[in-house]
Amino acid sequence: MKSSKRRHLLQAAVLMTAGAGVRERAEAQTPRMPFVVAPTSIPISGSTDLFPVRRIYCIGRNYAAHAREMGSDPAREPPFFFQKPTDAVQVVPPGVTVDHPYPTLTQNYHYEIELVAALDKGGRDISVERALACVFAYTVGLDMTRRDLQRAMGDEKKPWEIGKSFDHSAPLGPLHLATKTGPFTEGAIWLKVNGQVKQSANLNQMIWSVAEQVSKLSQAFELMPGDIIYSGTPENVGPVVKGDVMTGHIDRLPDISVKVV
Ligand code: MN
Repeated sequence: MKSSKRRHLLQAAVLMTAGAGVRERAEAQTPRMPFVVAPTSIPISGSTDLFPVRRIYCIGRNYAAHAREMGSDPAREPPFFFQKPTDAVQVVPPGVTVDHPYPTLTQNYHYEIELVAALDKGGRDISVERALACVFAYTVGLDMTRRDLQRAMGDEKKPWEIGKSFDHSAPLGPLHLATKTGPFTEGAIWLKVNGQVKQSANLNQMIWSVAEQVSKLSQAFELMPGDIIYSGTPENVGPVVKGDVMTGHIDRLPDISVKVV
């Protein structure tokens, strides 16, 4: 018998024989949750293990050409961050095309192909030299964006939440252990829509490397095991509509395939 169930039965037996005062005290000691919130996890490739997700950090404008297409000067801008809710994760297993719901409220739904790093160690003020020791695994991700809403909020100096942090906005593949892949400091990154190349760049064009991202993030937040980092997208972001199939690629990782429905 599971210990939680045994505890529950014992408590019930105590409550049946106890007076009201004892009953109230016992109930106060064992807080009850009226419902369950499902935890978010990402499969770890090559095992049955799951990576529990704590936070999703996203780096903005981390490729110079993308920063320019978004209307900023890449030379002057330090890295900046936003978050998506943990349950925005949509796991995309390799070898299959997963349905991805077109979100509400947008007429301009954009892809952003990104390298994702998953941490199993954290801390504050992590040096660039120690940063990659915190990275447990990597995968291919999409930072899906309601671009019209993101732009409208930006124009009004309001938060990006509605443009970036909505349900299913973080499709990604299973994690691949850093001990097996090594670091991702270079290599092709591309995204195709219906077989046509839309984004194509090299990870060595990132303004801030993964190690620098971890280091900078750790100055603003205490990083923890379970945090994942979307490392920014290259240029030529663009729209998809229902029926489009997106294929995302990073050298040395399996492609991911997502159909907008
Ligand atoms: Mn992005």
